[in-house]
Amino acid sequence: MLKTIKNVKNQLPFYYFEELSKIPRASGNEKGVVEYIKNIAIENGLEYYADESDNILVKKKGSVGRENEDAIMLQAHTDMVAEKNNDTVHDFATDPITLIQEGNILRAKGTTLGADDGFGVAIMLAVLTDKSLSTPPIECLFTSSEEIGLVGAGKFDYSKISAKRMINLDSAEENTVIIGCCGGVRTEMTIPTDCISDALPAIGITIGGLCGGHSGEDIDKGRKNANVVMGSILSEVNKKIPICLAYITGGDKDNAIPRENTATFTVDSIEKSDECVTLIKEIIADIKKDLVNEDKGFFVKIEEMISTGHYSRECTEKILKVLSLPNAVLEYRKAKPILPQTSRNLAKIRSNVEGQITIGFSSRSYLEEKLDMSCNDLDKIAKEIGATTYHHERYPGWQGESDSDLVIDWQNAYERATGRKTEPTLIHAGLECGLITSRVKGLEAISIGANVHDLHTPQETMEIDSFDRIYDTVLEFLKK
Ligand SMILES: [Zn+2]
Repeated sequence: MLKTIKNVKNQLPFYYFEELSKIPRASGNEKGVVEYIKNIAIENGLEYYADESDNILVKKKGSVGRENEDAIMLQAHTDMVAEKNNDTVHDFATDPITLIQEGNILRAKGTTLGADDGFGVAIMLAVLTDKSLSTPPIECLFTSSEEIGLVGAGKFDYSKISAKRMINLDSAEENTVIIGCCGGVRTEMTIPTDCISDALPAIGITIGGLCGGHSGEDIDKGRKNANVVMGSILSEVNKKIPICLAYITGGDKDNAIPRENTATFTVDSIEKSDECVTLIKEIIADIKKDLVNEDKGFFVKIEEMISTGHYSRECTEKILKVLSLPNAVLEYRKAKPILPQTSRNLAKIRSNVEGQITIGFSSRSYLEEKLDMSCNDLDKIAKEIGATTYHHERYPGWQGESDSDLVIDWQNAYERATGRKTEPTLIHAGLECGLITSRVKGLEAISIGANVHDLHTPQETMEIDSFDRIYDTVLEFLKK
């Protein structure tokens, strides 16, 4: 039955994984995969509900004698991130993913593999269609466009769900049970700027070579944020030699730690300009002492020039104040596991020609009140400096108990199925669990997964035996 993947324990979930790989399913293009799932439901006489947002719920009745047990919900997203190598010819709208097996490793030919979250979809289809299994009633929710902002999960009608326990299959680490994920909110701050036309000596600074990374999962790794580094260089100089900013731009994506920043500022005289260069070199030497290994590529270019315009001193001070706000991990959890509780990433800053500077922040926390706190802090500083804020794309976090029955049942099932142990943890990033548990009253959830590496890149791989073990654990969990 399997064409590419060989030497597996469980044929059926791998069969579905192969089939899914043939169906283009980049975010926003899930019609084909929904049709595929719908046909499987029809062929197997299963009740289904598909909505306009390309979500599909498929229900399987409890096995004989287990019809009246409480339902278990399984959940995964049908879309995948579409990334390919520069030299790979691949049209994500029409082409199938080409699978390559190297021993225990499964990868794709020059593209993302789509194990995130094809592994979850495949397991759910296997559970739905294997008539030999003994299971309680199963409710499988396949959501759409998770990778572009939990779009499908946000639009689903959860009155269709009766389960009070959910297993989300969208984690990428086999030996952990995820019991919490972050909520998030993005804030755009707009600072009105003035412009003084004046030819003055100026200094241009370019920062680059930082590692960056995911603004949630990598936020506690001590990596430098290019916008914050530029802010601290400018503030240090400004303490000794008054400067006027003329331009500043850095960062690109809301959910990434910025790696680059470019700024220009003016001073009163050539002598001061020379003094600034010396000072900046000293500041950089200090910053270099404090870099984590991943940031060792850090470099700074300094250029002396003449600028024809700049912001006023008052305006410069306002911008520097925002750049020196607390950044990265704002506080850690007090309970175990000790991980970041709340974080903020100064993701983007732009000098706009329309006479304003826009600054983008992304805040994350497991707790709603902490997201509020981060927003309120930004509102407060904005008010002080005559700026405005706009909060958007907010989604809720989720924090379960590490010793709930659901967690313990999963840990036990994993140990029975594999002889191994798995530990509860939280992730400092978003998952659909936050949104779904906020919509279904009394729903308990965990998130689990097989070992998948380098997600969202063409280097994405999945460990085949890990996928087998997670499937075995799901079956063990569903046994009476
Ligand atoms: Zn995913």
